[in-house]
Amino acid sequence: MQEVVLPEILAGRLKEIYQGLQDEYDRVARELHFSCNGCPDNCCDSYFLHHTYTEWAFLWIGFRRLDANRQDTLLSRSRTWLEECEKALAVGGRPQVMCPLNENGLCGLYEHRLLVCRTHGVPARMKRPDGHELRFPGCFRCQEIVAVDYLDKQPPHVERTPLLHSLAALENQLLGGKRHLLPKVRITIAEMLVKGPPALPAGHEGRNTEP
Ligand code: SF4
Ligand code: SF4
Repeated sequence: MQEVVLPEILAGRLKEIYQGLQDEYDRVARELHFSCNGCPDNCCDSYFLHHTYTEWAFLWIGFRRLDANRQDTLLSRSRTWLEECEKALAVGGRPQVMCPLNENGLCGLYEHRLLVCRTHGVPARMKRPDGHELRFPGCFRCQEIVAVDYLDKQPPHVERTPLLHSLAALENQLLGGKRHLLPKVRITIAEMLVKGPPALPAGHEGRNTEP
């Protein structure tokens, strides 16, 4: 197996996508007068799956910058997290276990947190390749605001489609244009750490860094 390494130039593009998403998120949050300040909940216990080698490799760039003790701690927590989730999944439930990277409410790899971590909260929409539109209402607190202030009108929302297209294009470039031929990624953050950095059978890794 050959590790899928995210070259610096592609990591830079991923950061631009994240920034675009952040800007959109901030715009919508501002318009809604919404913030996470004072929230009794913490979304980091939500069970999310992630779908790109790109984000997996980017998480590993951040993870490798931690010292060895810290890495061991996070790996150990990730294994425990997986055991807890497996118990919930085994009885047909949706796991709700605090992310192994979360410490006292803060993200231990904040600069490298994943797209989903950056999008939860405000209303959003995205169009699937088959044209079907998906709508996300935002978190429970945001829905409370919308229920009062947007009774008779549409609330502002983040349009995720162009940003997700950019991420898909970036993923395809990382994989040398062979994204459609390679095993799909469907993985939690804990699995990303426990499995190690993303890897593909030798000869399948892409790393086409041309613009
Ligand atoms: S990676 Fe960070 S932001 Fe994302 S769920 Fe884990 S602790 Fe929360
Ligand atoms: S996104 Fe919503 S539920 Fe999550 S921490 Fe912020 S306010 Fe709370």
